[in-house]
Amino acid sequence: MPSNMRGKEYMMERFRMEIESLSKNEEFARVVTAVFMSRLNPTLEELDDVKTAVSEAVTNAEIHGYQGKEGIIYMELQIEGQQLTVMVRDKGVGIRDVRKAMEPMYTTDKSGERSGMGFSFMEAFMDQVQVESEPGRGTLVTMKKKIGR
Ligand code: ATP
Ligand code: MG
Repeated sequence: MPSNMRGKEYMMERFRMEIESLSKNEEFARVVTAVFMSRLNPTLEELDDVKTAVSEAVTNAEIHGYQGKEGIIYMELQIEGQQLTVMVRDKGVGIRDVRKAMEPMYTTDKSGERSGMGFSFMEAFMDQVQVESEPGRGTLVTMKKKIGR
């Protein structure tokens, strides 16, 4: 944090958790994020936007990263001033071509259940989405949004 911002008004908080890659934990990740960000007095719309983005990222970690198998999803939430940062990391299969994966309607799903819109939703609902991934090592999704501007 810049030293000139070390005042009372400037909030800086961090919260980390690890969840098992199970579909029932997706709801938990969403709710915890909503509670954490409530410190920023978000509007209902902002809450919904962030919950949707978290849901997409965590679901991706579960179904693509860990391919429905066991694994740990690492989440980190941060507030710096009015900015919320959400990081969702998995140590799953990783993504070979991140740019391609982020294109609207791109999906590797063959069942026809998925529409390939997860990353597009994250980008639509958050101010910034950054994806770092390495095949065989996993994926880190970092999303930022200014709350209550
Ligand atoms: P939808 O989200 O609409 O249900 P989708 O999950 O296929 O469909 P995106 O969320 O946009 O669409 O992801 C696009 C593709 O990127 C996925 O099909 C998958 O191949 C890859 N991908 C996304 N997240 C991960 C991840 N955590 N690990 C490995 N691959 C991923
Ligand atoms: Mg998805």
